[in-house]
Amino acid sequence: MTARIIDGKAVADRLNADTAAKAAVYAKAHGRPPGLAVVLVGEDPASQVYVRNKGKSTIAAGMLSIEHKLPADTSQDELLRLVRALNEDARIDGILVQLPLPKHLDADLIIDTIDPDKDVDGFHVVNAGRLVVGFDGFVPCTALGSMMLIDEAGVKVEGAEAVVIGRSNLVGKPVSQLLLRRNATVTMAHSRTKDLAAVCRRADILIAAVGRPRLVQPDWIKPGAVVIDVGINRIEEGGRNRLVGDVAYDGAAQVAGAITPVPGGVGPMTIACLLKNTLTSAERRAKR
Ligand code: NAP
Repeated sequence: MTARIIDGKAVADRLNADTAAKAAVYAKAHGRPPGLAVVLVGEDPASQVYVRNKGKSTIAAGMLSIEHKLPADTSQDELLRLVRALNEDARIDGILVQLPLPKHLDADLIIDTIDPDKDVDGFHVVNAGRLVVGFDGFVPCTALGSMMLIDEAGVKVEGAEAVVIGRSNLVGKPVSQLLLRRNATVTMAHSRTKDLAAVCRRADILIAAVGRPRLVQPDWIKPGAVVIDVGINRIEEGGRNRLVGDVAYDGAAQVAGAITPVPGGVGPMTIACLLKNTLTSAERRAKR
């Protein structure tokens, strides 16, 4: 068997086109486009790239993009003041504080200072609670994007055995909640799980969000399963720097029914879902 490759870039492009069309309708109706503010503290090179890409994508979707780039020695009070000002700023529907923050800043406190109704990253404890209870809120973008790719594979989620490896607040927990909401039977696996290979072999839907290059081996995969590889790992191989996922892709693609590649799978979905969440925030705020 050779798996169908789930093209995350194509799905993200479609979603972005849809978001841009709806953002234009919103701008016409309300006299302003939806707005996203991104706050970057310090000069972490990877974070700078992420922030630049988010800004470009926001503008490409016809939305207002505001970037605040602060020096690494910004105090906690200064950052809290900025977040509170953005909470009050009527042009801004989404606020994102790029993580990781420098060590002297309390990331949990800063995230929890964002108005939950502008927390388009879905990291605020109120949004985590809303997700568990089943209320409308914001769901972390990578989890949301992973679900869209499962749907793209055309698999029936209801009643399926789903195994999620990883239990972070960022990916593992929210994607497990989304699967549960769709009536999958969900197993959350982690570093203390016994016989991870046997647990994975039960899965009709297998999501790997671990951060261990090629942890998931082809013989861990049930033939025909849908495999969503969230991992992004940089490795040295054959004298080259490569990006690989948490799944041993070449072998896994011979067993799975559908699989996401790395890069080009879950990755492109994350920013697309951020823009979707920002539009949703604008639409909800306009109704209040
Ligand atoms: P994280 O916070 O480090 O969590 C990793 C999880 O994996 C933990 O729950 C950990 O278990 C579990 N784990 C670690 N080693 C394991 C092992 N050998 N067997 C089973 N479980 C194991 O990572 P994260 O933030 O969720 O990110 C996971 C991966 O997704 C990373 O590669 C990250 O780069 C990638 N990612 C990609 C995107 C994207 O846009 N595509 C976005 C976010 C993250 P314990 O809880 O027991 O420690």
